[in-house]
Amino acid sequence: MRGLSTIHLSTLLLVSALLPSSLDGLEEQWIGVQIEAGNFDVEVGADGAALRVEWRGGRTELPRGIHSLHSRELEVRLGELTIRNGSFRFQAADGRTRIGPNFYEGWIELYPDEYGDGWRLVNRVPVERYLLGVVSHEMSANSFPAAALEAQAIAARTYALFQIYSRDPQKRIHVYSDTRSQVYGGENLHPAVVRAVEATRGQVLVQDGLIFESFFHSTCGGRTRSASDAFGIAELPTLEPVSCDGCQDTRFWRWQARVSSATVHHALDGPVDKLGLRLGAIRRIEPIVETRGDHAAYLQVIHGKGSFLFNADRFRSLVNRAGVKTVRSTAFSVTEEGNGFLLEGRGWGHGVGMCQMGAKGYAERGANAIWILKHYYRGAKIRSLW
Ligand SMILES: [Zn+2]
Repeated sequence: MRGLSTIHLSTLLLVSALLPSSLDGLEEQWIGVQIEAGNFDVEVGADGAALRVEWRGGRTELPRGIHSLHSRELEVRLGELTIRNGSFRFQAADGRTRIGPNFYEGWIELYPDEYGDGWRLVNRVPVERYLLGVVSHEMSANSFPAAALEAQAIAARTYALFQIYSRDPQKRIHVYSDTRSQVYGGENLHPAVVRAVEATRGQVLVQDGLIFESFFHSTCGGRTRSASDAFGIAELPTLEPVSCDGCQDTRFWRWQARVSSATVHHALDGPVDKLGLRLGAIRRIEPIVETRGDHAAYLQVIHGKGSFLFNADRFRSLVNRAGVKTVRSTAFSVTEEGNGFLLEGRGWGHGVGMCQMGAKGYAERGANAIWILKHYYRGAKIRSLW
């Protein structure tokens, strides 16, 4: 599913929960979502109204319709305008700004990258409006029951608030628009999603009054995974493993992937070479399982010239990138088969927090959103912030 919410390890924070004082008397927050970065060409505009453009000390309007935006090292061209060095923002007068095929509410802001690497295009939007574009991408509004969509809205709101407050509400960018954070595709007004977000307006998950990083993933395959094991962050009772049979009739409850020795060799050769090791023919792969679950933390790789331990998440992404694409999680066993290996696994995604297919399964059996959230985030409570 689209909502495979893996987290890029370099973006992980050691903070695991936020002070309650920062949540008291809170009004709805705005969030900065990075849509593009670097040097890019994109069509922007307003279908039904003029495009307002503002920069420090100036403003203008471009006519309704599509305008080309080209960002280069020190300047951005937007239609007839050329903007150098400084940041600027634009917005359709009717509130629906087009970026490529999608529409965005709020403002579109452009900043020169602080490291000199081109520009960053950011959608600054109120959190509740942002959630409409997240829930509709993280779950299918047509096939997921209302209770699952509501649980997703609360988990996604909590995750978003955590990103805002663990950085700084004043910061320009809090999240990415892809699986590095939560998938966001701009405006989506599917009635089921609008209902789920409005029915849960302002509600977040807390543990002992603190907001926490409420991870979620596609399919757990029977048991969720400890955030501490998966991401190396501080242990939190709400992010420890729980059993789940809500996802048992779904596609990735169990899976198989066949990987040839040559593919493993190809995938690992570069990284292993950087460690100063020479890689021989791959002979065996043995998962070293995490303490609190059955995901592999490391793999012991035995090859023609010796053996080494390799990070299991990295192995999964390298082998998938080498063309296998079917290693869905790090919860798998390995058997030798022909000139390669048979991986037999369960679940899809990092396995931490709410299992989205499980939420769907429980909702179909009649569970409400609160029951679903309390099942996956053990000990969590729901608090209304605005
Ligand atoms: Zn599950």
